[in-house]
Amino acid sequence: MADAPLLSVQDLTVTFPTPRGPVRAVDALGFSVHRGRTLGIVGESGSGKSVTSLAVMGLHTGAEVTGSVVLDGRELVGLPERELNRLRGRRMAMIFQDPLSSLHPYYTVGEQIAEHHRVHFGSRRAAARRRAVEMLGEVGIPEPARRAGEYPHQFSGGMRQRVMIAMALACEPELLIADEPTTALDVTVQAQILELIARLQQDRGLAVVMITHDLGVVARVAQEVLVMYGGRAAEQAPVDDLFAAPAHPYTRGLLDSLPRLDDRDDEPLRAIPGSPPSLLAPSPGCAFAPRCPRAAAATGAERRRCEETRPSLVRDHDRLTACHLSPRGDTGAAERPARNGGIR
Ligand code: SF4
Repeated sequence: MADAPLLSVQDLTVTFPTPRGPVRAVDALGFSVHRGRTLGIVGESGSGKSVTSLAVMGLHTGAEVTGSVVLDGRELVGLPERELNRLRGRRMAMIFQDPLSSLHPYYTVGEQIAEHHRVHFGSRRAAARRRAVEMLGEVGIPEPARRAGEYPHQFSGGMRQRVMIAMALACEPELLIADEPTTALDVTVQAQILELIARLQQDRGLAVVMITHDLGVVARVAQEVLVMYGGRAAEQAPVDDLFAAPAHPYTRGLLDSLPRLDDRDDEPLRAIPGSPPSLLAPSPGCAFAPRCPRAAAATGAERRRCEETRPSLVRDHDRLTACHLSPRGDTGAAERPARNGGIR
């Protein structure tokens, strides 16, 4: 079992009841992450990537979650809330895009980290407080003993994200889910936070799931990429393979829409035409069909297949692709994006 993934997700489906009918936000998703590795999950808003991360953490109330989420051999789907609470923090932790909304404005950051530690370990106040200061130091907050006594509003955005990372890792979890952790930060601070996560991952052998819409972030930190579209996996591949030869037209579109250093100032931005699919009235065919250049170029039976039959994921070596008309990787490698999403 030495090589077993820490996190294994299979056939994960998340359905929300709404007044207009059920919405299947995540549909039959599967992936796994090993210790010391990072999986990047990318997609547009509404693709289901954040819903997936919340489902793994067991944080969806009111949604129907089916399938399997196994953490270190233990099935989490259907686990009672009390058990899940015990695992959250101690075995798995999550950081979000906006640390300010995750931190309580009335308590000092040291109190909040210490409280988190006390809840999970039943530690005494002084020990929890020492742990809070230690963690603030570990995530690179200068003068951690003094700053532990300050409130969230006294920290910059980047420092607040460091506080959230300190809190997330205070109880030594093995799985860290980072949901757009750098989206609200400027480019230099983004790079520092990604470097911090990478260092902590190496030091602790963490398994990391990085949720992002930014392919630059994926290129920088992930070894494996899962591209989501309309709640389903469009393509999954090792990061180098994906950038070298995207097989799904949606992945190709995402890569082509990145700004490039050699773009002229007057050149319009390239976007994928059309809008994300409606999850309320999903089409029976491929969700990407209305926007897909490959389907548009197809005729007859091939075109009908795209419009009428949902493609299944098909494996080709280390790559999985859900496309009826997929060649073994698109022609023409995409340039690998630099850390800020631009092409280097
Ligand atoms: Fe495009 Fe058809 Fe492939 Fe869907 S199945 S991505 S519509 S070519």
